[in-house]
Amino acid sequence: MSRPIQVMKFGGTSVGDAARIRSAATIAAEASKQRSVVVVVSAMSGVTNTLIAAAGKSAAGDEAAGEALTSLLKTKHQEAIAALIPEGERQRELLAEIEALIDRAANYCRGCALLGELSPRALDVIAGSGERLTARIAAAVLREIGCRGVAFDATDLIVTDEVHGGARPLAALTREKTRAALGPLLEAGGIPVVTGYIAATVKGVPTTLGRGGSDFSATILGAALDAQEVIIWTDVNGVLTADPRMVPDAVTLDEVSYSEAGELAFFGAKVLHPMTLRPVIERGIPVWIRNSFEPHRVGTKITQTARPTPHCVKAVTATRDVALIAVAGPGIIGVPDIAARIFAATASVRANIVMISQSSSQDSICFVVQSADTIRTEKALRDALHEDVRHHELEHVTVNRNVAVVAAVGENMAGTPGIAGRVFSTLGNEGINMIAIAQGSSEYNISFLVEASAMERAVKALHRTFGLGQVESREEVRADAQVTTKTV
Ligand code: ADP
Ligand code: ASP
Ligand code: MG
Repeated sequence: MSRPIQVMKFGGTSVGDAARIRSAATIAAEASKQRSVVVVVSAMSGVTNTLIAAAGKSAAGDEAAGEALTSLLKTKHQEAIAALIPEGERQRELLAEIEALIDRAANYCRGCALLGELSPRALDVIAGSGERLTARIAAAVLREIGCRGVAFDATDLIVTDEVHGGARPLAALTREKTRAALGPLLEAGGIPVVTGYIAATVKGVPTTLGRGGSDFSATILGAALDAQEVIIWTDVNGVLTADPRMVPDAVTLDEVSYSEAGELAFFGAKVLHPMTLRPVIERGIPVWIRNSFEPHRVGTKITQTARPTPHCVKAVTATRDVALIAVAGPGIIGVPDIAARIFAATASVRANIVMISQSSSQDSICFVVQSADTIRTEKALRDALHEDVRHHELEHVTVNRNVAVVAAVGENMAGTPGIAGRVFSTLGNEGINMIAIAQGSSEYNISFLVEASAMERAVKALHRTFGLGQVESREEVRADAQVTTKTV
């Protein structure tokens, strides 16, 4: 493709109402003056949650949930369209298309209510409807402001495996389809507007990439198109030293490495879907995190090598979205190959393991999984160990959901002595008990488990101990910044 390509993704709040959609379209239109632009959009904020809740209620027998969904989504999207597209043929066509998509989602909900069940496959179809709506609206707005915006459903571009709710892309097929579908429009100077979050299997069955997956969609497309850069437009100034909702004096980091950002995302920093950086690392495509509400700001650049900050720990992150599973008790002692069997069981249900710790006597292995994986992991473990432990009365598999993982991350931590000591004493001074601790051999992070109620205190205290609130940010203005859309 002749011009360099920039893939830009707008998250839920960045397309949250008519004004935000207009602002996103302006950012894309400005950028397209200098290069080819591919836009990726999330659903309007709150819409995916609404869809998933309606699907769940329907499956539980609430036949009215589909109706409620229809009226809520129609009102929200009709209001946006009325504010963005002048009355007339173009508005009528867009409204009809949007209403048909909403009716389709509601029909699926009714189907769930009739069957009394919600399969992962049906959930993906329903949950992914929101992105189809915003892609069409944003493309129409681009056309209103003089660009050739065309909406694409990523079900026609991104090919994945069949793991509903957390599908992984098949790179070669995705590359082929994406280039064939978007290439001609990009060559002609048009702006494809692609749905985030959704994809489809080789057979064309719709899948989703997991909650928050639109970030991942952007980098999958960026890699497929050999993009020059990927920009994730969101509602904060970049990657911060901690979640600003938890630590108000958190500071924006100018640069972080792929590994650092990957660790932060893995340990719960919502600003990036954990898989986001996978597709771009090999090709070295830079990813920027920028604030769509303040587009004049530079944001955070994520590349292979990031300039270090003066601090060994760069950021602190945490998540409550986990559970501690312990396999322990007298029945476990002497079970042959216990570790291999435990992890074969977790692998069989594709559980995402966040931390592992084993006591030396081999009679207790505990690990942390993501909340969503807990029930099926517990069942797989009980099934796998049933024969060995059925003569023992003591419980051998226990689950504790009242926990949180906290992680301190930074490449400079590697080889710096005393960091674990500072982490321990900080938590000790706060009276916070560490339930388990792990440090990978890369030494890019120390992660530990605390009671959920202590999470916020732990993050705040570590942020203070490592002086993270004091990092100076450059806050330069990018040469191609769009000050026109500044809406502070
Ligand atoms: P979007 O809808 O644009 O995808 P998300 O809500 O998924 O946005 O992610 C952005 C949010 O991530 C921020 O509002 C912030 O509260 C949260 N967040 C958590 N940790 C961090 C961090 N270290 N840096 C920046 N934001 C963070
Ligand atoms: N809309 C989807 C979600 O809320 C995907 C995304 O926003 O990234 O999870
Ligand atoms: Mg997100």
